[in-house]
Amino acid sequence: MNDIVTIKNYEEKRRELVEKNLNLHGLVMREDEKKVDNFLSEIKKECLKNAGNDIYDIPVLTDKNLINSRLYGFCSRLPKGADLHVHDMALLPFRELVKLLCECKDFCINADKKSFDLKLANSNNKVPDGYIRFCDAIRDSYYTADELVEYWTVVGAEKSGVGVWEYFEDLFNRQAVMSDNVPFAEKYYNYTFRYYAKKNIMHVEVHIMLTESIDQSAEYIRAMRKAYYSTKKEYPYFTVRVIGAGVKADSENIDFTKKCFLNASFVQETVKDESGNDGNKNFLIGFDLVNEEDKSLPLKSFANMLLKVKKQYPDMKLYIHGGESLDAKNDNLIDAYLLGVSRVGHGLNLYRYPDLHSRYVNSEICLEVCPISNQRLGYTKDIRNHPATEYLRSGMAISLCSDDPAYMENETLTDDFFAGIIGWNLSLADLKQLGINSIMYSGLEKEEKTASLKAYKELWNEFISEIIKENNL
Ligand SMILES: [Zn+2]
Repeated sequence: MNDIVTIKNYEEKRRELVEKNLNLHGLVMREDEKKVDNFLSEIKKECLKNAGNDIYDIPVLTDKNLINSRLYGFCSRLPKGADLHVHDMALLPFRELVKLLCECKDFCINADKKSFDLKLANSNNKVPDGYIRFCDAIRDSYYTADELVEYWTVVGAEKSGVGVWEYFEDLFNRQAVMSDNVPFAEKYYNYTFRYYAKKNIMHVEVHIMLTESIDQSAEYIRAMRKAYYSTKKEYPYFTVRVIGAGVKADSENIDFTKKCFLNASFVQETVKDESGNDGNKNFLIGFDLVNEEDKSLPLKSFANMLLKVKKQYPDMKLYIHGGESLDAKNDNLIDAYLLGVSRVGHGLNLYRYPDLHSRYVNSEICLEVCPISNQRLGYTKDIRNHPATEYLRSGMAISLCSDDPAYMENETLTDDFFAGIIGWNLSLADLKQLGINSIMYSGLEKEEKTASLKAYKELWNEFISEIIKENNL
C-alpha cells in the first residue's frame, strides 16, 4: 500500500477503494438516474425484507410474493436491450407456450400421462391413437398448466430421479414436433417476437440447430424472417438475428455438426435481412456448439473442422457455448479463444484461468451470462456465488441472457435481471451498462447498432422519467 492508513484518513481511503471496485467501465449516472438508483436500493431492501431465506436459491417464478414485489415490477418494465443467447422453441416462458399451443388446434398430447410428448394431428386432422387434442386437454383440465410444469420444465427433474441435464435434454424430445415445422414456426415467432418487444427486449439472437436438408433449413428461416418483418411493422426498432448450432455430444456427431454448419452457411448466403433501406444484411450471423459440456467431447475435438470451414466461410462468426462446467479440468474456454470466438455462451469457469481472463477482457470477447439457467442446471444454486460480479467489476464485456425460458420456467430476461439485482448488488448504472453491452456485442452491423443504441436510450430515458413521476422522486 502506498499511503499510510491512519484513524483520520481510514474512511476516505476505504471510500476510494469501494468506488474503484464498484466502478464498471466508468459509467456515470445523471442526477435523475441517481434518484432512480436510490429508489432501486429501497425497493430491493423491501423485497429482501419480505422474502424468505431461500430467495437466493429459488428461481423467481415459483414465488408469487416475489412476482408481486415492486422490485419485480421494476425489472419487468426495465428496458433490457438484447437477448443474445436463447434457443429455438425455448424462447417463450412456459405458460405463454401453453397459451400459444392452445391456439394451434393440430397439436395433440399423449393421453396416458406417461411420456408427455406432443404429436401433430394426422393429415386428415384426425387425432393419433392414444393422444388427445392439446387445446381440449387444457380446456377440459385433463392436463392443467401446473401439472405440465413438472413434465415440460426442469421443475420435474428432482422427482424424476434422473439428473437435471438428462431431464432437461429430454424436454426437447417431448416437444420435438414443434421444431422443423414451417407453418408453426411462423405462428410461433409472430407470437414470440411480439412478446419480447412488449417486454422491452429490442433485439434477439436465436440459436437454432438446422438439421434437415439445406432447402428445408432455408424454408424454416424464411418463415421466421416473415414473422420478424411482421413484428417490425409494429415495433420498428425490433431486430432479429439467427445463430446456427451443432452438437458436441459424441464423436459420431462431428460429421453431423459439419452438416449443421453447412446448412447454416447455405442459409447465410441465401436468406438475408432485406428490411432496411441500406442493402441486404446477413440474417444468420454465426455458429454455436451445444450440449452438456462435462459429458461431451471437448471443444478441441472440433478445432480442425471449425478452422477448415471458417476459412471457407469467413462471414460465419463463432458464438460457442464454453465454460458451462464445474469440472476443474474443463478448459474449453482456451479453445474458444484460439478459435477466435466473437462471444462465448456462459463462460462460467473463466475464473479458473487468470491469463485467459485478461485475454478475454483485452479482446472484448463478450460472455453471454445466463443466471437463471445456471441456477436451474445446478451450476450456481445460490445466485450470490455466481462469478458474474467479478467479471463485471473487472471490465469484462458481459450481457445477460435467458437461455431456455420455456424449460427453466423463467420469464425471459426479467428474472435474470432480478437475480442480478438481488444476488450481485447491481446498481442502476450496471443495469444500463448491461443493456448497452447487449447491443454493442450483438451480431448487428455498425449502423444498426447505432440505431438500436439510440432507440435503447430513448426507451431508457422514458423509463427513468416514468419511475420518477410515478414515485414522486
Ligand atoms: Zn444455451
